[in-house]
Amino acid sequence: MADEQIPSRNPVNLADYRAPAYQVEHVALDFELAPEATIVKARLQLRRNAPGPLKLDGRKLELLSVSLNGEPLGDNRYTLDEDSLTIQDVPDQAVLETSVRINPAANSELSGLYTSGSGLFTQCEPEGFRKVTFFPDRPDVMARYRVRMRADAAKFPILLSNGNKLSSGVENGIAHAEWEDPHPKPSYLFALVAADLVSLKDEFTTRSGRKVDLGIWVERGDEARCAHAMGALKRSMKWDEDIFGLEYDLDIFNIAAVSDFNAGAMENKGLNIFNTAYVLADANSATDMDFQNVERVIAHEYFHNWTGDRVTCRDWFQLSLKEGLTVFRDQEYMSDQFSAAVKRIADVRLLRATQFRDDAGPLAHPVRPASYLEINNFYTTTIYEKGAEVVRMYRTIIGREAFRRGMEAYIAKNDNAAATVEDFWAAMQSITDIDLKQFMLWYEQAGTPEITFDESWDDAAQTFTLTLRQRTAPTPGQPEKQPLLIPVAIGLLNQTGEEIHAETLLLRETEQSFTFKLPQKPGAVSLFRHFSAPVKLKGQSRARLAFLAAHDSDLFNRWDALQQYASAVLLDSVATHQIGQPFTLDEGLKDAIAATLRDATRDPAFAAEALILPMESLLADDMTVVDPDAIHLVREAARKALGQALSAEFHAVYEQFANAAPDDVSGPAMGARALRNAALSYLTAAEGPAFAAAQFTAAGNMTEKLAALTNLVDEPGPARESALHAFYTEWEHNRLVLDKWFSVQARSNASDTLTRVQALASHAAMDLRNPNRVRALIGAFTANPWKFHDKSGAGYKLLADFVLRLDETNPQIAARFVTALGLWRRFDTKRQGLMKAELERILAREQLSRNTYELASKALA
Ligand code: ZN
Repeated sequence: MADEQIPSRNPVNLADYRAPAYQVEHVALDFELAPEATIVKARLQLRRNAPGPLKLDGRKLELLSVSLNGEPLGDNRYTLDEDSLTIQDVPDQAVLETSVRINPAANSELSGLYTSGSGLFTQCEPEGFRKVTFFPDRPDVMARYRVRMRADAAKFPILLSNGNKLSSGVENGIAHAEWEDPHPKPSYLFALVAADLVSLKDEFTTRSGRKVDLGIWVERGDEARCAHAMGALKRSMKWDEDIFGLEYDLDIFNIAAVSDFNAGAMENKGLNIFNTAYVLADANSATDMDFQNVERVIAHEYFHNWTGDRVTCRDWFQLSLKEGLTVFRDQEYMSDQFSAAVKRIADVRLLRATQFRDDAGPLAHPVRPASYLEINNFYTTTIYEKGAEVVRMYRTIIGREAFRRGMEAYIAKNDNAAATVEDFWAAMQSITDIDLKQFMLWYEQAGTPEITFDESWDDAAQTFTLTLRQRTAPTPGQPEKQPLLIPVAIGLLNQTGEEIHAETLLLRETEQSFTFKLPQKPGAVSLFRHFSAPVKLKGQSRARLAFLAAHDSDLFNRWDALQQYASAVLLDSVATHQIGQPFTLDEGLKDAIAATLRDATRDPAFAAEALILPMESLLADDMTVVDPDAIHLVREAARKALGQALSAEFHAVYEQFANAAPDDVSGPAMGARALRNAALSYLTAAEGPAFAAAQFTAAGNMTEKLAALTNLVDEPGPARESALHAFYTEWEHNRLVLDKWFSVQARSNASDTLTRVQALASHAAMDLRNPNRVRALIGAFTANPWKFHDKSGAGYKLLADFVLRLDETNPQIAARFVTALGLWRRFDTKRQGLMKAELERILAREQLSRNTYELASKALA
């Protein structure tokens, strides 16, 4: 194959950043919209900014004409290649006009302008705008936009873009509209919607009195499922004013929902575009988790208006500047709506299960990477979730009040500009005396630090000394690691668990001791309270963990101590199982679960979290050679043994919390259902599917229904078949619910999961163009820690087949799935060989996308 046909495999390096040669002051776009042939005319007002030619990005555009300052340019005046249009000798002030033709219906990558259902939608972050028109498609070029659209009024009556609407109407069957966004923005925040949609409308008045028209645009029939999203939007707008003093800055805020979408949602200025999964919710069709996800994502995208849109990123290496910060903000918002401890627990559970795992493998990268082949591969849990932890650590180190002032300084200083993580750092440093220089390492160094500790008590001096040590294992490209600045929130407890001292220590050295003068020898130290840093704490004794699980006044650490304790005993059982010994239930674990059940009424949502045994994938992370079969058998044996030993207690909880009204999605109602469903899982393990079958029939909402179904699908037989059939028949026409039908089977532990997933892959309702459906089947299956790793290798093959099929149409989605094979080094040699073979088979494909090439080659390296 000729070299020029291979997508460019040259890395982009942070160190090579250069300012753009031209800024675009204003852009006027004119769209003649039609699914198969859309004409885009662009008029760019340019101003020189740095030396060099005018380089415009452009991909899959058919260039119809180009003119400079009104004069048409012949093809001897510019160079055109696959990715760009370059013009030499452009004056320092100039107007460039281009006209291109594009084919949205053929755009299966879902980046740029594409069709979904009967509508047209855009997704431009990070590099989709270059598929709409020729433009310097980089976030440090910020322009004001005016957008005109025309389209067949019968098919596309609704025409939306960013900012405020200047006009709209219909003439001779052609709908037209004109929008103007007064705020300068980078091209990745451009959005356009042309579709037959209806809206739920509302309004919000900002604290300075601006009346904002709110609209959520969905397909006809879906309006009734938008109320929760609208409520969340209004709560978010108010919260950002109350907590950060940040007000909305336009007269319109629109959200449009689309079924085919690569990501969760997108923060385009004044026109957020959402995956329907994060908009539509009612109790009948959405679980409590879905309701919370809608709330979280609505908040997240809204918060981007300031952290992302008003203050944007200089280049894509700074992605975490907006994403980490905005995730932090949505986490804080959610913990103000519900229980802060439970929210923290859920976030840390996710961080450990995904980010810690990535950080320990071949795809580990820093919060600010130094190099990439394909930026779409860097929308990762490291950029998002670890990035949020980094922001949180600033606050833990400098304090809440200082952090708030730091945020104010950051926004004031960088408003309407494209910033870097150094700008954020400088804003925080500017309001504190604490030296933050070392803190920058959190952005530059990949890997999860491991912390060990020693304690000593000097009876004569009445001093307690805590010695902390940190170490970060090498990651790709970073063999040597420096010590980080780590905030360690600690509590010293007396023998009965009362707190005698609490403070946040700053660990800066590889090894550092802290001495406390105390009236008595502490009974226990609680370390990294509320998970004050994204680290792995090692070496806590089981006795200590049991004590903290029962007594710590920090709820997060109480939960964590039980998790760590359970991990330790389950991993012991795995070792026992591997030498052929039978499973025995640890008494300490039984007592801790019993205590959790006894205390459940105090905080049902917390109890529900505490009852969940450590995930199989988490246990795997702590094994030198992962044994997925042993892990699964042991965890199931523990669930069954606990269900039997504490049968009466589980029954009692299951009965006691049955009263939440089905459509009540308040915190207490969700907590009650979560607790009840946790109990159901133990009862099913111990007593079989009768309870789950009964709950399936009686379920008053989707949370109860899906929990029941999840328990039923583990056991092949008539109960499973009739439940799956009933569910399918009831929900066949609701895509989001049908996604659940796919996932619940892909996650199943039943003996026939592999063959079922294979069959589902060619089910009539399988739709490769729809990322939600693909994720529902394949994403869920790769997250099935036992079946995906079936020792036959059939799971790996199924995945690789999908990657290769998807790579031809949607490389962004295809590449994501490769990460599941990146863990190969952690397994036995047989599985290693099978996983590597699939990675090699993927890499052998000619014309592999840059996306998939980057992750597959790095995974093998
Ligand atoms: Zn975001």
